[in-house]
Amino acid sequence: MNKPTIAVHKFSSCDGCQLALLNLGEPLLALTELVDIIHFAEAGPVDEDAKVDIAIIEGSISTTDDNERLKKIRDNSSFLITIGACATSGGLQALRNMANTNEWIADIYANPSVINSLDESTPIKDHVKVDLELWGCPINQRQILMAIRSLLSGVSPLEEQDKVCMECKRRQTVCVMVTKNEPCMGPVTRTGCGALCPSVGRDCYGCYGPAENVNTQGMTNRLQGLGLLDEEIAKRFLFFHSGTDVFQQQRLRIKETK
Ligand code: SF4
Ligand code: SF4
Repeated sequence: MNKPTIAVHKFSSCDGCQLALLNLGEPLLALTELVDIIHFAEAGPVDEDAKVDIAIIEGSISTTDDNERLKKIRDNSSFLITIGACATSGGLQALRNMANTNEWIADIYANPSVINSLDESTPIKDHVKVDLELWGCPINQRQILMAIRSLLSGVSPLEEQDKVCMECKRRQTVCVMVTKNEPCMGPVTRTGCGALCPSVGRDCYGCYGPAENVNTQGMTNRLQGLGLLDEEIAKRFLFFHSGTDVFQQQRLRIKETK
């Protein structure tokens, strides 16, 4: 019997999410018993135009050629998963959406005319239908394994939208905001990381993006209470996921009330 097939594609990104997949180690080898990885340039196999059951996409749409390639990937795949902040919300590079891209390019590159870059960095879902989003910068190995194993079992993968705070409570991790006055973004950030940063005594800085039904104004009030300046608070919302409406709107609210 033919095994289900997988392709891993890259757009504008740092490769960190693909590395998370590669770093699975033994579980990745075990996975190859169940699926055929047809395209995963970072790991070796290359067949970009292959038709596959599951396409996994890292990275945002940032250049004029990206769209055509993305549409071909969508046509060639039955189920499409986006992985990481770049693919789900435009990533760190979406900070340029608020700036003058040409000025930035001129400031950075010795020969700006050779740079073929769109004015905005946008998530994959803005261009094609996405079946599952795995957030995080980078994603963690448990997320991707769970998603693929669910699909292989004929079950719809679970999209985690709870807040990091819920994960801390479940793991009995001591709250770093309550006990150490750390400006933790856990109350507005979606879980999936296992509340990694609070588990080692650090504040969450929102790398998994907005959770569902978040109270961004309440978060802002709390951060003001901890003594953060409005500009610092706006930056905390924009850090990894400036491309999300919910964090972007809060940034504008903070700006308007100044
Ligand atoms: S989401 Fe983060 S780790 Fe993943 S590719 Fe983008 S910048 Fe790298
Ligand atoms: S705790 Fe926050 S910053 Fe740390 S890995 Fe999780 S989502 Fe990212």
